Amino acid sequence: MIYLPLEYNNSMRKKIAAGNWKMNTTPDEGKLLVKNIISGSPSLKEHQEVYFFPPFTHIGYIAEVVGKPNFYTGAQNCSPFEKGAYTGEISTSMLKAVAATHVIIGHSERRSLFSESYESLQHKSSTVVNSGMTLVFCCGETLAERESKNQYKIVQEQLERSLLHLNKDEMQQVVVAYEPVWAIGTGKTASPAEAQDMHAFIRSLIKENYDETIAMQTSILYGGSVNAANAKELFSQPDIDGGLVGGASLKAEEFIEIIKALP
Ligand code: PEP
Repeated sequence: MIYLPLEYNNSMRKKIAAGNWKMNTTPDEGKLLVKNIISGSPSLKEHQEVYFFPPFTHIGYIAEVVGKPNFYTGAQNCSPFEKGAYTGEISTSMLKAVAATHVIIGHSERRSLFSESYESLQHKSSTVVNSGMTLVFCCGETLAERESKNQYKIVQEQLERSLLHLNKDEMQQVVVAYEPVWAIGTGKTASPAEAQDMHAFIRSLIKENYDETIAMQTSILYGGSVNAANAKELFSQPDIDGGLVGGASLKAEEFIEIIKALP
């Protein structure tokens, strides 16, 4: 199925390069990486943003060296709870206290390796936006789901069950990341047309559930083996507003080229 992009001027949306470091780097390695990326990056235009998502232990250190406009630091996950007897968990207020401003929720590795349920993700989405932070909400189908042509159904289910309960105001704090599971860390990228098609579908769902203004304003990132060589073509699609980048965000030169590819 081909979903046509909504007719609008997409220059009003933020264009974003986000680096998900996963469980990589020591704090010192992370600091050096950020310093190198920041010193090698151009000044960002008003509508462009860069997010770093280091492991929890480095967020405070990284936020200290991220002193350039439109560069932000965030967390790869958070607790749905505020405080109390939840051993091993980190709350949004703890994250805010170390200057994190963004949180990724629903990454496929958390869904599959740590059994995150729709209900838990719904709770976490609400917790993040209620804390005033920006939510980067991930969705995406597995290879089997795509091969059985269920990719739209599953992405719709992921959004409806864990994100689209937010109200209109809360949706303004949301960035969606479409990350087909078969493209994450595999070197296989969705073609720009495949990715564009799903992004247009996601935007149409946002329009159906809210309105055209919210749909037009929501940035939708593509994730799955984005690198310096493919970023420009992916980011030039009308509904792709940048990338959530894993492996390539750990290499300064590569991530700088991805930042430069932002429209
Ligand atoms: C990710 O982990 O969000 C990701 C997209 O990883 P990679 O870029 O390595 O495929």
